[in-house]
Formats: sequence, structure tokens, C-alpha cells
Amino acid sequence: MKLSKSFVPTLKEVPTDAVIPSHILMLRAGMVRMLSAGIYSFLPLGYKVIKRISDIIREEMDAIGGQEFHLPALNPIEIWEQTNRVEAFGDTMFHIKNRDYVLAPTHEEIMTYHAKGVLKSYKELPQIWYQIQTKFRNEPRPRSGVIRGRQFLMKDAYSFDTSFENLDKSYELHDKAYRAIFDRCGINYFVVGASSGAMGGSKSEEFMVKSDAGEDTVAFCESCKYAANVEVATSVVNSVARIDDSKELFEVSTPNIKSIDELCGFLNINENQTAKSRIYIHDEKPVLVLMSGNDEVNETKLESVLGGNVRPGHPEELKDITGADAGSIGPIGFKHRIIADLRLKDGNNLYSGANKNDFHIGGIDMKRDVPNVEYFDLRTIQSGETCTKCGEKLEVFKAIELGHIFKLGTKYSEGLGANFLDENGKENPIVMGSYGIGVERVLACYLEQNHDDNGIVWDKSLAPFQIHLMGLNMKKDSVVEASEKLYKDLQAEGYEVLFDDRSTVQAGFKFNEADLLGMPVHIIVGDKKLAENKVEIKIRKTGERMDVSLDELSSKLKELLA
Ligand code: ATP
Ligand code: MG
Repeated sequence: MKLSKSFVPTLKEVPTDAVIPSHILMLRAGMVRMLSAGIYSFLPLGYKVIKRISDIIREEMDAIGGQEFHLPALNPIEIWEQTNRVEAFGDTMFHIKNRDYVLAPTHEEIMTYHAKGVLKSYKELPQIWYQIQTKFRNEPRPRSGVIRGRQFLMKDAYSFDTSFENLDKSYELHDKAYRAIFDRCGINYFVVGASSGAMGGSKSEEFMVKSDAGEDTVAFCESCKYAANVEVATSVVNSVARIDDSKELFEVSTPNIKSIDELCGFLNINENQTAKSRIYIHDEKPVLVLMSGNDEVNETKLESVLGGNVRPGHPEELKDITGADAGSIGPIGFKHRIIADLRLKDGNNLYSGANKNDFHIGGIDMKRDVPNVEYFDLRTIQSGETCTKCGEKLEVFKAIELGHIFKLGTKYSEGLGANFLDENGKENPIVMGSYGIGVERVLACYLEQNHDDNGIVWDKSLAPFQIHLMGLNMKKDSVVEASEKLYKDLQAEGYEVLFDDRSTVQAGFKFNEADLLGMPVHIIVGDKKLAENKVEIKIRKTGERMDVSLDELSSKLKELLA
């Protein structure tokens, strides 16, 4: 592709609405342009990479027996009503005004609709159906460029099996295919087990990439690869040790002391000697949740411990329930259920609120004074804590979800009546799995991980072009002649070449732009080197430069781009 005739609108300045590297680089390198919040147009260079990623995905999906579909994005709403997902998606699903259509945010329903009545016998199963297609989601806060779009490309795959045992096999195949896809794309990822929540399945795993642009927070152990969303992550629990003999309970006046830090400062005690109280309302009844020091209640863990409906108590309710405001609440004299985090188990000589404004109680012995307390893991873990699997240190960081594999079970086949006849002629719902990859997210995550101060660093697997050829002074006939010939020869050898053939820009500009665009190998044609029958090669990733004679260029490129 000749740059003189191409639309690659690079930007010198960093666009103000872009903050994360991938977003900045995609805009600066002229790969995408924003049309509206969360809606991006892919320009030729960007779309080339999308096609590369799609090709890799197709090859790996075909390798596990996947068959490619292309389903409509415009769907009759009635199919979505049969699985109650109009309600489940709520405002995230786009509805067509005055027509009973929606724009599909995913395609479980439509694939299941096509399976129904067609996959009739166990003999026709298993099947793996997939597509790479546009999805629509009215994301409330589209940001971070294409990472969270309102329209985006998803590779979505669906497996159809006769039993849960066979679903396990389809799931494993996808797990393998996903690893192959992300490895080939050159992405450094890790896998987190997740609860599949609203999707109605039994097991699911998320393929994640560490990034400050992520909206998930995960705990990860580099040593044993334990990874979990902080909503469910655990670490080795260091209980607050029992100290000395338990004192009698005593009341202390703590005027205007509200936080744990203020309390510790005022009484000159350690955070470990305090128990913080939070009131939650569970199925209309109050529950006191006790945490050690500044540990925060992890509401996901709390919900799974309590079940049912849980919400924090409103400030106005607290006084009615306890007799005190937040900051002065505690377990002594509390008349309802009390649960505590495991770290407080059997602790003594603790301070907590007195259920009387501006007073705390000291000398609390959990065994003696809070005998009915129940202990659970209720805290959110922190970076640096110890891994329960291997004893090494856990790291907590933000991450982006690249892909997700789910064991769906029979939710959709039952909802839409997709049944098959088993070997005994008995009708059963088809057992399904669903498997998604965000295609633009693969691109964005690659860029998050592969750039330097000067721009993008493409690996040959995703690079839009393997070679960036530059004619330095395109006003000189010798340079024009030699670079035009190289352009033809290199393409004849099978390379995809971006040729900066412009006579209107300076060498410095060409170098900077080549670094920004980031093709793996740069070939620089200048008249001085040409006089010695040589060109210069630069490896983008390492910055290494070398002079290569035109006779040896072909073998050198084979070595570099093998
Ligand atoms: P998230 O939690 O980030 O919203 P999700 O759980 O809604 O993701 P899925 O419904 O599992 O995502 O969709 C499968 C894949 O599609 C995701 O793993 C992600 O890579 C991609 N994806 C989801 N939403 C978007 C979006 N708004 N923009 C771009 N890609 C997306
Ligand atoms: Mg989502």
C-alpha cells in the first residue's frame, strides 16, 4: 500500500478524550475514528488488524469443528421474550421504535432458535456453531475507546450436546482454542474462574488481561496462577491474636470519634484491636456485620453467605435499630443476628461502638461477650496478602475481560423448546455452552501490552504490514527507482508492504510516523547507502539498525520475519 494514495490520518497530538494507551494509539495511528460515544469507525489500517484477529479466531474455531454462521443483528423481540431476557438486559438492549424488534446484544436465543426442531436426534450432536458478528449494547458509560463500545464485534460460539459430560468436552475444546487464539495474537493473559450469574449456567471462566483500563479487579498469584475476581478472592487469613487476659468490659467516652483511624489515634491503640460494625438489612431483618479494623465488607461474599435480599442499612434506620449513629455501633447489647469476619474469630480485648453516640466499649472478648456470633470470610483481600494455594504473595489489580466461556446448561433450550431424542427415544433439552471473544478488545489489549513512547510495536502475527518501506528523498530518481523496484519485489516475495513513497514529507517525519505505526521491519532507502548498493533495516521492537546489501536483503528478511 502506498502512503501517498492511502487514508492513514495519523495525529501528532494526543486527543484529549483518550487516556489509555490503546485508545490514544489507535487514534494517533489513524486506525479508528469516533463517530459518537462508544461508536467507532474502523479505517483501513485498523480494519486490517481486525481481519488478522478474525482469521486467527476462524482457524482455531474451525480446528475444533466449529461451523461459521452469520446471524442477523435485527431480531424479533418475541424470541427474546421466551427466555425473559428482554427484562434481563433492560436498558442495555437497543429497541427499534414502533416495531417489535431489538438489536441483538448476543445470540444465544437465535442460535437456539435455529437448533430447535433441526437438531432432533442424539445422532446429530454435538455441534459447535460460531460467528464473528456485530453486537449492540447500550453501555451506560462507553469509554476507553473500543474496549467498551455500543457496537462491537464479537466472536460468539455455541455448543450443543446430549449431556453435561459431553458439554464438558465442548467446553474443554473451547478452552484450548481460546488459549491458542490469544497465544497467537501475542497477548499475555490469565484465566479467572467466575460465577456465571445471570447467564444461568454452572461453570464459567474469563480470559483476562492486566490493565489500568479494566473494570474488573482481580487477585492474581504469579507463582501458581491462582486468579479470582476480588469479589470472591480469598487469601490466608491472619486472625487477630488473643492478647493478654481478657479485661472486663468497660465504656470509654469518644467524643466525635467516627472512624477506625480516629479511634486508634484517640485511644493510642492498634487497628487490630478494633472491630468495625456495619448494619445490613437482610430480608427485612437487621444484621450486624463485624470487621477487623479498616477491613471493608465484601458485599458479594456477604450476599452469598446470607442469600436472599441484602442491602446496607440507611443512616435513618441505624438509630432505630441500635440506638446510635454509624461510628458508634457495636455488638454488645445488639439484639439481632451478628456475623463477623474470620479474622475476628475468638479475638479479645477489642474495642467497638457502644450503641450510644460518642461512646465505645473496650475489653470485648468475642468468645465471652458475643457468644452467638457466626464467622465467615467477609473481607475484600488486598495486594501483598498470602496465596492460599501456594503461600506466595497475591497481587490485586485491574483487568479487562477479553473472552468468556460458559457452561450454559439447558436454560435456553428449555426456554425455546429445543429438544432432542436420546438413544431410548426420550425427549431431552439440548445441553448448551456459549463462548465469546471481543474482537476489538483483542486489538486494544494487544496495544496496551505492546507499545513504547514512540508508538505501536507490532508482532508479525497481527501487524497490518510486515514491512514499512521508506524512500527518504523521493525527489531523487535513484531513490524513486530503487524503492519502487523493492516495493514490487518484496510483494512478489509474499510480504505485505507499506510504502512511504511521499515526496512531500521530510525524512524525520517519515521515521517518526514509521515508529508510531509500528510495523515489525523498516527498510530505509537513501541515496548514500544506495551508492554502496545497500539499504538500512531497522527492527521496530529493539531499535536495532543494520546495513544490508540489496543482494542479501531477501535472505535477511526471511531470517527476521520467519
Ligand atoms: P463486560 O463485563 O466487560 O461488560 P460482558 O460480561 O458483558 O463483559 P459477555 O457478554 O461475556 O461480556 O461478552 C463476551 C465478550 O464480548 C466479552 O468477553 C468482551 O470481550 C466482549 N464485550 C462485551 N461487551 C463489550 C463492549 N461493550 N465492547 C466491546 N467488547 C465487549
Ligand atoms: Mg457487559
